[in-house]
Amino acid sequence: MSLATSPFSDLLTRRGPAARSDAIRDILAAGAAPGVLSLAGGLPAPETFPTAELTAVTERVLAESAAAALQYAPTEGTPAMREVLARLATATGAPATAEQLLVTSGSQQGLDLVAGTLLQEGDTVALDDPSYLGAVQSFRRAGAALLPVPSDEDGMDTDALEARLAAGARCKLVYVVPHFHNPSGAVLSAARRRHLASLADEFGFVVLEDDPYADLGFAAARQPSMDVHTERVIRLMSLSKTLCPGLRVSGLKAPAELVHELAAAKQSADLQTNTLGQHILARLLADPEFLPRHVTRLQTFYRTKAGELSELIETKLPWLEFEQPSGGLFLWCTIADPDVTSDDLSRAALAEGVAIVPGTPFCIERDGSRNVRMSFATLSRPELATAVERLSTAFDKCRTGHSSNVHQT
Ligand code: PMP
Repeated sequence: MSLATSPFSDLLTRRGPAARSDAIRDILAAGAAPGVLSLAGGLPAPETFPTAELTAVTERVLAESAAAALQYAPTEGTPAMREVLARLATATGAPATAEQLLVTSGSQQGLDLVAGTLLQEGDTVALDDPSYLGAVQSFRRAGAALLPVPSDEDGMDTDALEARLAAGARCKLVYVVPHFHNPSGAVLSAARRRHLASLADEFGFVVLEDDPYADLGFAAARQPSMDVHTERVIRLMSLSKTLCPGLRVSGLKAPAELVHELAAAKQSADLQTNTLGQHILARLLADPEFLPRHVTRLQTFYRTKAGELSELIETKLPWLEFEQPSGGLFLWCTIADPDVTSDDLSRAALAEGVAIVPGTPFCIERDGSRNVRMSFATLSRPELATAVERLSTAFDKCRTGHSSNVHQT
């Protein structure tokens, strides 16, 4: 039954339906069908999960501190997890104390808490165009207006943002994904980070820095958080891609007075993040040797996977252009054929048994109808090769379909 004809439709607020993205949900569902090879999801590779280490630590936690690890915990997070996150924040940005850290159920909850706490109906959020859909949904659900800012391989064009601000535009938040952006793969340059921080000080907005891919660089070390340049930063420190998403334990770093307000919102949402997960990760990350060793493994793994998919595309799909990624999980590609749109291609690809995501749902103002996002993370080398062959067939069928349409008209 559709929402319009449902007896419950009158009960719903306007916010939910307006903020949904059915396009991507449908593609991910189709990609999960048996026999379909999916390049569509944003999932990290299970081979990278530190399963052996997590098993050992979980046993120790349950043997030594089951009473606390299985009990309710403070809304802000367990003291040990906040300490560990404060150390991670300090190592990758400005010095942080535990009271500036809130443990969240994934960065997605951080996005929702920030949107719900800072944004009033009609407030503006500036963000890259294209942007991460989960963030867009949280902002829309809060009733915010979006101010799309063009971006390139160096991330958000902060000169363009400054021009909009100079012309009178105002925003409360500027949302960025500074390393290996989802979907574009861009890395915000050091100069633009400094520029954005100085604009935050001048115009009084907060930079919402969502950085789940920072540890997934193939070569260069991650850049420090923008909180080294200004205190007007809320950092979302997801551990989903660095460790695993299933535990739903992430960090949010903000000025302590904001943490207090965000914790009040979190309390009404879910009381707290799961206690056992926090005990496990606090112990795992307390070992100073674990994370550097693990991150090196991640980087080698994803560099290899990105190389495999890039090489297959370069040799088999000459009509698909992309920048070589320097980290993250995605290739953001452009179809260099005026007759084939990404919607056509993704539909034809699904019929051949491969799922990709068309660019349009990620785009706010710019035209994404020739873009596709593909993840190189989870398929094996032979599966990637098959997926690329299927894409080639799908493209040929789109071209043939186009020329037969041309003949008909
Ligand atoms: N931000 C971005 C840019 C993401 O790509 C994702 C997940 N794909 C998230 C936030 C949410 O991550 P988490 O698992 O920490 O909720």
